Amino acid sequence: MFDTLTASLQKVFKNLRGYGKLTERNIQEALREVRLALLEADVNYQVARDFIARIQAQCVGADVLDSITPGQQVIKHVHDELVALLGGTSKDFDLNGQPAKVLLLGLNGAGKTTTAAKLARAWRQQGRRVLLAACDLKRPAAVDQLRILAGQVGVDFIGPERGEELQAFSRRAAAHAAQGGCNVALFDSAGRLQVEEDLVRELKELKVALAPHNSVLVLDAAIGQESVNVAETFHRAIGLTGLILTKLDGDARGGAALSVQQVTRCPILRVGVGERLGDLEPFHPDRMASRILGMGDVVSLVEKAQAAVDEATLVRAEEQLRKKRLSLEDFLEQLQQMKKLGPLGNLLEMLPGAGRLPAGAREQALAGSEQEMKRAEAIIRSMTVKERRHPEVLDASRKRRIARGSGTDVPAVNALLANFNRTRKMMQQFGRTQKRLLRLGK
Ligand code: GDP
Ligand code: MG
Repeated sequence: MFDTLTASLQKVFKNLRGYGKLTERNIQEALREVRLALLEADVNYQVARDFIARIQAQCVGADVLDSITPGQQVIKHVHDELVALLGGTSKDFDLNGQPAKVLLLGLNGAGKTTTAAKLARAWRQQGRRVLLAACDLKRPAAVDQLRILAGQVGVDFIGPERGEELQAFSRRAAAHAAQGGCNVALFDSAGRLQVEEDLVRELKELKVALAPHNSVLVLDAAIGQESVNVAETFHRAIGLTGLILTKLDGDARGGAALSVQQVTRCPILRVGVGERLGDLEPFHPDRMASRILGMGDVVSLVEKAQAAVDEATLVRAEEQLRKKRLSLEDFLEQLQQMKKLGPLGNLLEMLPGAGRLPAGAREQALAGSEQEMKRAEAIIRSMTVKERRHPEVLDASRKRRIARGSGTDVPAVNALLANFNRTRKMMQQFGRTQKRLLRLGK
């Protein structure tokens, strides 16, 4: 999501590192380029200007100019300011109430309903009892959407009755949560296409009736600069306790993430990184800063891998990798593990250096889309055990048989084999890193 910004910053830093000693002029020039890179990434103008001014103040000091590694010092200041810009430390919801009341608000299509289900799922996994309440009185379809999602994630649900008033319903829902022994009551409110007066009035009413512990704005990161205005308006009118940025998996330039926190002073509590119900992540300012600077977010990657991948499988795979005997059977197993981790693009972005991959290479790496993974699976399943263990026996006639059996063609089989060889190489590196990290995680 921060690809362009990361690339520009890395160019600036590379130049800086080239100097043995820095003059004030070198620093000015570098910071000017950092500022341009921020603006290009859609960071709010004022935010970018203040950001640079703060770094400038730090960089003219002796610790940079007289340092033996001046370039590194500048980068460190940029990193620290970036962490501060993103909110410093990571913050979470206030879930102390019994039940803790969480009101989600935002414009139509921002991702409120999806995010409500994602949060409910995560909290349920932590062993909390969750109630999802649909506060959209005008659109029965919106109520149904939440009801279905509640069923999918296995949490309680309550919707308005015909003709019920918003305040009456919200009080009834809160009482229902308390009686039902719920730890969290999550209220999904109705949106509008824009911030309109009647929406603000409705949300104010809802807030008075509910007195929620958390009033959280769900914001679509893809709307860029506009998100800053939306966040400011909601914050002023309703009073927010936090923000959730959605669709950070898309082609958003990411500047919104850097600006909204600073402008509203409300912490970013979660980020949405995909349409699936598991695609919601905590927001860690320090990790995000490292990611933006192209240092890779190894810690997040490890946590994700640990949650999804069964350790024994990893260790076994790792052993095989070490012996350099990765077979197509292992490949199949790896494919299935990767499916559990979610879209490959998310993973790739977290790897150090992935931001530096040329566009083509990145696309190629991402070509392992789910569809292709399914095809690969079909092809491998059409092979005999011997063929899976010793792919070198695959001659033209065997390939034709496999292509027929898997409903593909010979070029597809060849492509899979090429991909397998490439993956074998990649996995060797990946396996080494993971093993090291698993050891660290213990
Ligand atoms: P609401 O009108 O605010 O309730 O928005 P919805 O929850 O109905 O979401 C609108 C659309 O955005 C749906 O198609 C969601 O699948 C999609 N969406 C929500 N969050 C994310 C996200 O983090 N990433 C992506 N790619 N899509 C998302
Ligand atoms: Mg909705």
